[in-house]
Amino acid sequence: MPGSYSIAVLPGDGIGPEVVEATVKVLEAVQEASRGLRLKLRFGEAGYNCIEKYGTNVPKETLEMLRETDACLKGPMTTPEKPGAPPSAAVTIRKMFGLYANVRPCKSLPSVQSLSPNIDLVIVRENTEGLYFGEEFEVSPGKGIAIRLVTQAASERVARLAFELAVKRKRHVTCVHKRNILRITDGIFREAVFKVAENYPSVSVDEVHVDAMAMRLIKEPERFDVIVATNMFGDILSDEAAQIVGGLGLAAGANIGDDYAMFEPVHGSAPKYAGKNKVNPMATILAAKMMMEYLGETEAAEMIQQAVIEVLKEGKVRTYDLGGKSTTQEVGEEIASKIMEISS
Ligand code: NAD
Repeated sequence: MPGSYSIAVLPGDGIGPEVVEATVKVLEAVQEASRGLRLKLRFGEAGYNCIEKYGTNVPKETLEMLRETDACLKGPMTTPEKPGAPPSAAVTIRKMFGLYANVRPCKSLPSVQSLSPNIDLVIVRENTEGLYFGEEFEVSPGKGIAIRLVTQAASERVARLAFELAVKRKRHVTCVHKRNILRITDGIFREAVFKVAENYPSVSVDEVHVDAMAMRLIKEPERFDVIVATNMFGDILSDEAAQIVGGLGLAAGANIGDDYAMFEPVHGSAPKYAGKNKVNPMATILAAKMMMEYLGETEAAEMIQQAVIEVLKEGKVRTYDLGGKSTTQEVGEEIASKIMEISS
């Protein structure tokens, strides 16, 4: 029996409000199609436009609202780059809610240009430390140092999530590191992954240096299942992996913790397209699909996935990045009506 959930929705800025609006149409259709499912959507402010108004990109009212919900759907948000500007809203939320794993699936989709038709991999990236830990110093003019924090506890925690995922998939984990150079930090990460592997005898494990991995993602992407990596390596590899299966318009990500999770498109706020009703909302729609999976609503998740696949196969309604001329909202409406069709 489908359940009842409170969902925080942060439209963000740039193209965020447009892709989120299209996704809300899809969620409303899923709710209508699966009798009994109740999604209480609570909209909150966050992102670039909040900085002037509140002095932060994640106001405390929004944080309070997140605490009262079961999960968060987040649109992209612009992060100002000037020194002293607040950290990215995504980073703030990940830290506040202990969302330690960034999970980014990459799968070949019908009628979408892909390096190979059989790619089906997931990148699990450690989300809280590594080189994105956020401690950088200018020790003297022209000389800077950044801290790359790697702990056994955080590495084992993210490794466990990677192995749990692999058990439900093709039962293989690839540990990505650069231990030949970063002997201490990546030594800790590698040891943690292989230690956790001992508890999962049904899952095979291997290891690849990050530079070789960048090449093998192009050469033989269909050979991988779950890839686990530290923060920056995972970030870079997951953008590469998104591109080999059709680009940022289709790439979704989940930020998972022990008690809460946030779902978002991998892409940013693409300011040059803001307000043009032009970009692809499928990345955000697929993020919403991951959210339904996280909530245990597998039928609803399957409905969204199936509707996206059908719309792609038909090829009539697609945005510019997939060679079409449809608008963001037309894609959302088409997927929503496909959901009603599938369920009837
Ligand atoms: P971006 O992902 O916003 O855009 C890069 C290009 O990718 C766009 O110009 C566009 O050609 C294409 N693109 C992005 N989304 C698309 C979509 N849905 N459909 C079709 N094409 C799409 O990257 P950027 O320009 O480097 O970053 C812009 C801002 O977004 C920056 O401030 C950055 O910090 C921020 N950002 C935020 C997040 C987040 O909120 N999680 C993630 C990445 C970047």
